[in-house]
Amino acid sequence: MPVIKDAVCSLCGSLCDDITVTVEDNKITKIENACILGHSKFVGMFEHDRIETPMIRKEGELVPVSYEEAIEAAANILVNSRRTLSYGWCSTSCEAISKAIQLAEETGSIIDSTANVCHGPSALAAQEKGAPSATLGEIKNRADVLIFWGCNPVHAHPRHMSRYSSFSKGFFTEKGRKGRKMVVIDVRKTDTAKLADTYVEIDQGSDLLLITALRSIVNGHADVVPETVAGVSKAEVMELAETLKNAKFVCVFFGMGVTQSRSKYKNGDGVSSLISDLNQHTKAVMIGMRGHYNVTGFGQVATWETGFPMAIDFARGYPYYNPGETGANDVLVREEADAAIIAAADAGAHFPQKAVRHLAKIPVIQIDPYANPTTEIADVIIPAAVVGIEAEGTAYRMDAISLRMKKLIDSKFKTDEEIAKDLIAKVRELKRGA
Ligand code: SF4
Repeated sequence: MPVIKDAVCSLCGSLCDDITVTVEDNKITKIENACILGHSKFVGMFEHDRIETPMIRKEGELVPVSYEEAIEAAANILVNSRRTLSYGWCSTSCEAISKAIQLAEETGSIIDSTANVCHGPSALAAQEKGAPSATLGEIKNRADVLIFWGCNPVHAHPRHMSRYSSFSKGFFTEKGRKGRKMVVIDVRKTDTAKLADTYVEIDQGSDLLLITALRSIVNGHADVVPETVAGVSKAEVMELAETLKNAKFVCVFFGMGVTQSRSKYKNGDGVSSLISDLNQHTKAVMIGMRGHYNVTGFGQVATWETGFPMAIDFARGYPYYNPGETGANDVLVREEADAAIIAAADAGAHFPQKAVRHLAKIPVIQIDPYANPTTEIADVIIPAAVVGIEAEGTAYRMDAISLRMKKLIDSKFKTDEEIAKDLIAKVRELKRGA
């Protein structure tokens, strides 16, 4: 019975690469080292609602068809559309993302990633102020003060703290958790906050106020800080600023509480400025707690191929980027898109109601291994192999370290990369015939 060591878990941005998988009769029968989320990913493919065959919606009903028929139907939608949105491509390989970008260019589409509803504001902040960062290996080996701001790794990245941060033991951090100070800043006492040395409870949507107060103190202007900031007493903010200044190596891990609350990208912008200020006193870095296992990979591939990390519009024949105008939700809420590809993501479940309502009105092509709410509004459904289990490929961890995902079992399904390549070929053929 084959035992595969050092498999990579293709679920969250921690991209754990120490998973041991036992395979019997082309089925995964045992998983070691994965957390409960990772475990459900590896075994989920045998339990969840798998899309078993390509399908086309005819008179309201989904009818099974061959891959060739589904690709042809999808390509027809693409060549007849004037403004296609291609969205998702974050739970797949960089190789597939590269082909998806080529397809978007070929069809003059907008292509956007799940960052649109996640860490997109962090990208905007990085463009404006930079993002002084580090690898998770550096954090493991050096960081003595860890801030988890607006994120809850116990639930969203369960092995993050044991592998890379709070509990891990490194070269200069051999005492592990005992040698590190852990601070959680959040609006509620999460399970992560319960493990912290210090929990700072802030008012909802007031992150920028606290960031600004911390910056004022770090820069020697404590006198301008009022007695209470963001629901936190001045004394507590002063103590936190001292903890940061006196650290040997600070890392601020930040999540949705920072990027999706009031002030959005300005919060990330503020964290970046705070990190720069702290570097006058000590060593400080920031890392976004990226969600999908390869959302960072989308940003990497898109940036080196088009110059932009997300929300890229090819309508003019060259890449144009203006989030707020060219983001996935922008073109859906404005009812601008007249067709959509939703790949390796579930807009049906995770987009705001107005955007989903518009998706339901236009032709939707879904590329995914599993049935989900997007399937309910899709017109052409193309099943895909699960990357990291049924297909190999490259992914980027939350700290932009690339890792190679292994193929663990055989599959009857095409990979996302093959599907995107087939779509490019069919679109070219239809355009030539037009
Ligand atoms: S922490 Fe994330 S990458 Fe690691 S095993 Fe759990 S789900 Fe997978």
